[in-house]
Amino acid sequence: MKSHSEHFIIISPIGGIEVSLLPAIAQGIKRIFGFPTQISSLLSDISFAYDSSRNQYNSTQILNQLSTFLPINACKILAITDVDLFIPILTYVYGEAQLGGISAILSVYRLNESMPLINSDAIISERLCKEAIHEIGHTFNLKHCKDPNCIMHYCRCIGDVDCKTDQLCRYCQIFLTDELEKFNKR
Ligand SMILES: [Zn+2]
Ligand SMILES: [Zn+2]
Repeated sequence: MKSHSEHFIIISPIGGIEVSLLPAIAQGIKRIFGFPTQISSLLSDISFAYDSSRNQYNSTQILNQLSTFLPINACKILAITDVDLFIPILTYVYGEAQLGGISAILSVYRLNESMPLINSDAIISERLCKEAIHEIGHTFNLKHCKDPNCIMHYCRCIGDVDCKTDQLCRYCQIFLTDELEKFNKR
């Protein structure tokens, strides 16, 4: 039986992500999931996922590729990029994750929308943290939650992201505790 502490979650920046944004994300991951993180660029060239007709990147293709790079002792990978991501049925996505799987991805591209002039650094950091936890939540089998305050709430616009808290609701917290127990028994 492996203990929780033997695993870490990889934060994998792709392209021009400001490194100053990463410590807050690492902290958020530790707070919600209890795992330490390691920053490591596992994938730099994502041109294979580029769709020229949409001028966007197919996030599902990036996730599939990322999962093949999982290092020993790592349990999940969170990629962070600055390109515009899509899945075929939607115009764009803030991020995507493999439900109950290994990889998640998140983009700052749309999270930069409707930025206030003051406190913009703090706001972008908050948005990124929320969506990072949301996407990793999916890799631990958490699904979308109806509670608009819950971090697992699906956000249709940037206002929804700003409205929700950086916490799991009671129901999702119980579900995650269960999932983490199962994970640690593997
Ligand atoms: Zn989601
Ligand atoms: Zn919830």
